Amino acid sequence: MNERPTFRTERDEPPTDGGACYVPAHAPEAVVVPDERKPILLPEPPDELPGKGYRKNQIASWLYKKGAREWGEMTDLPRRLREALPAEWRISEFALVQAFPSADGSVKYLFTLHDGQRTEAVYLPYADRKTVCISCQVGCPAGCTFCATGKMGFGRNLTGPEILDQILAVAYHQGLSPREIRNVVLMGMGEPLLNYENVTWAVRRMLNKHALAMSPRRITLSTVGIPKGIRRLAADDLGVKLALSLHAPDDETRKKIIPTAHRYTIAEIMDAVRAYFDRTKRRVTIEYTMLRGVNDREEQARELARILKGLVAHVNLIPFNLWEGAPVAGSGKKRIQRFAAALERAGVPVTVRWSRGVDVGAACGQLALRETKPLSL
Ligand code: SAH
Ligand code: SF4
Repeated sequence: MNERPTFRTERDEPPTDGGACYVPAHAPEAVVVPDERKPILLPEPPDELPGKGYRKNQIASWLYKKGAREWGEMTDLPRRLREALPAEWRISEFALVQAFPSADGSVKYLFTLHDGQRTEAVYLPYADRKTVCISCQVGCPAGCTFCATGKMGFGRNLTGPEILDQILAVAYHQGLSPREIRNVVLMGMGEPLLNYENVTWAVRRMLNKHALAMSPRRITLSTVGIPKGIRRLAADDLGVKLALSLHAPDDETRKKIIPTAHRYTIAEIMDAVRAYFDRTKRRVTIEYTMLRGVNDREEQARELARILKGLVAHVNLIPFNLWEGAPVAGSGKKRIQRFAAALERAGVPVTVRWSRGVDVGAACGQLALRETKPLSL
């Protein structure tokens, strides 16, 4: 049974929780009535919430602790206020929420925003934690060739409240209090460092003790590698974990799959990542999607180990998640194992990260708003 595992494979545990209220997978397109009201999630909680300090705390508690999605639920507010607030403030950033449960227990959520654009998040229940993977843009301007989100092009940046409300909406639909979500990964649609202000706005509310009161160690921001953004994030001192989508050990290979590699070299990116580590002392995750014949040779593993020398990093090897029309193919299991073993021999900690939600198009890099149809593999 024990075949000399030279690296750790992190298979996701079977679902232990989750389930709840789902709408049918083939729900109709939403008819969107524009909502001109202000997002209640917009102000710095609780100071700018309407009402006096004590009332603001009450509202923040309803939103972030009890997960209220309707003003009428806030029964301890004076009736006059409860009736006046909805005219000016909206609680939900979404006109429609649709859920697509995967056989493995994860659930993909498709959100229709108030202007009719759509975005997605994924709920990932694990034995010991509940994680939500959220988006920060509609589509993505970076255009990585192996990523379905990149293929769909760029719609727009999500606002801070739209980023944050994905967590609250997922919690609500899973029958959880928002504060039961203890882990957030910014690994859905979009490039977080290309929507810096809104992403950090949302992260600040995740951390705020009156809002989601999360630990920065449980928030991971994944980036394709924008050096200026990484340095800014270090300077802003939010303390979140950084994941870098490297995917290649040299610039030539990287340029074939990641258009932004024409603009930023690996050396520049790694300098910024080292600066991030120096500031935060948090181990950096290096993401590496295994693409057949592109980046999966053993010598490339050794090269990767060389460029990571001296950095406290952990490599996540991601088996490629197929999507219709993808111009690349994934490496086979054996190749992935050989690559991982080569990294281990070179002293680099490595994990193979199997994605969840593949059957409903919810896995890494599959989010493209068209996963309502089963993928023909
Ligand atoms: N824009 C950010 C975060 C979103 S993507 C980034 O690129 O880091 C989350 C991770 O999934 C990234 O490492 C991304 O490169 C990877 N990914 C994208 N498409 C994939 C696919 N089809 N299969 C496996 N991983 C993929
Ligand atoms: Fe954008 Fe990340 Fe996809 Fe590249 S991998 S296109 S940066 S979402």
